Amino acid sequence: MAWRVEENILYKYVQQQYPELQSEANHWKIVVPKPARRQLLARYHDHPTAGHVGVYKTYWKLCEQHYWPKMKDDVVKYIKNCTICAEYKPDQLRAAGLMGDRPKIKKPWQMISLDFIGPFPRSNRGYKYVLVVTDYFSKYVVTFPLRNATAKQLVNCIEEGIFLVYGTPQFNICDNGVQMKSKEFQQVCKDYRAQIFYTALYYPRANPTERVNRVIKTMIASYIKGDQKKWCKNLAAVTCAIRTSRHEITEATPYFINFGREHKLYGKDFENQVPEDAINANQLIEQRQIGYRKMFDRVRERLKSAREHNAQTYNLRRRHVEYTVGQKVWRRNKALSDATADFNSKLAPKYIGPFIIKRKTGYCTYELQDDHNKSKGMWHVQDLKPHYSHENG
Ligand SMILES: [Zn+2]
Repeated sequence: MAWRVEENILYKYVQQQYPELQSEANHWKIVVPKPARRQLLARYHDHPTAGHVGVYKTYWKLCEQHYWPKMKDDVVKYIKNCTICAEYKPDQLRAAGLMGDRPKIKKPWQMISLDFIGPFPRSNRGYKYVLVVTDYFSKYVVTFPLRNATAKQLVNCIEEGIFLVYGTPQFNICDNGVQMKSKEFQQVCKDYRAQIFYTALYYPRANPTERVNRVIKTMIASYIKGDQKKWCKNLAAVTCAIRTSRHEITEATPYFINFGREHKLYGKDFENQVPEDAINANQLIEQRQIGYRKMFDRVRERLKSAREHNAQTYNLRRRHVEYTVGQKVWRRNKALSDATADFNSKLAPKYIGPFIIKRKTGYCTYELQDDHNKSKGMWHVQDLKPHYSHENG
């Protein structure tokens, strides 16, 4: 039986992923009549809670409750004609994770990454920065708008907004920003028995949240058109859009992986459902356990193959370079590529230094120091080149 009518609404049966986690009603999709389709497309793409996500995510979100013939084609056509998307979407860059040795991540909230983005134009409520926290396993995102990007703010957000809500992760991935390196932040992680991993400076590919950050920046930009001070008003909605959109790697929404059900945007979404089948509570619990196990296994498998694929293509493209402790090197001048850099930086040199290799800190990263043994941060080999001194010919 593939079709049914309830209260004058036609439903079509579409088998869902992880049936053990689905109620019977979830398999029944509302068949949308032609005149209503355009408005639905707008709700699932243009609305701030939809976030102007791409074809894949828009289509899968529509699929949660709706069906019509050639729905995918209509989504493609609609997004192709979306002017906001045309103006703001950057060309899709290839995503890559942390390469080399990395702990095996098997559960949601086992490993998170933390990132400040901004400064943005000061919003009417005084916000200038956003702290973005991403769960590596489920791709669940939490954002905090902030007036200042200080260590104190970071500690508050992490403790009250993450550790005490979603649970403390085993691993925190951070960049080398002063807040992340602060005593306060290191102390709170110590108190909660969480480890910190620092990524190389300006090597965003090593950070699993880099891609999410790019998505969030694009989304914020697409909703502040006209009034630069209003970006933070849509931040929560845009974050919701990411959490409730299906992710290409995990093949599920971050929300579903966390809660075992899809997010409901409108209270009314509880209505208009086909009646639930009678099932006893014990059976239901047992079923959900099976469902979760299947889902986690699948996500693990997908994350693993994505990581292997990345490592492979990445390693093929690069030759291996080794530096020795004490060797002098030039370091790429990052002011050039900073989006916030002013016009004068175009005149700045491409490399600065020389610096001295202090120690090897990872497979492809080195800590540098200057002539006075002062640390100059961790850098990826792609940003370094050997220094040849004149004295040695
Ligand atoms: Zn759009």
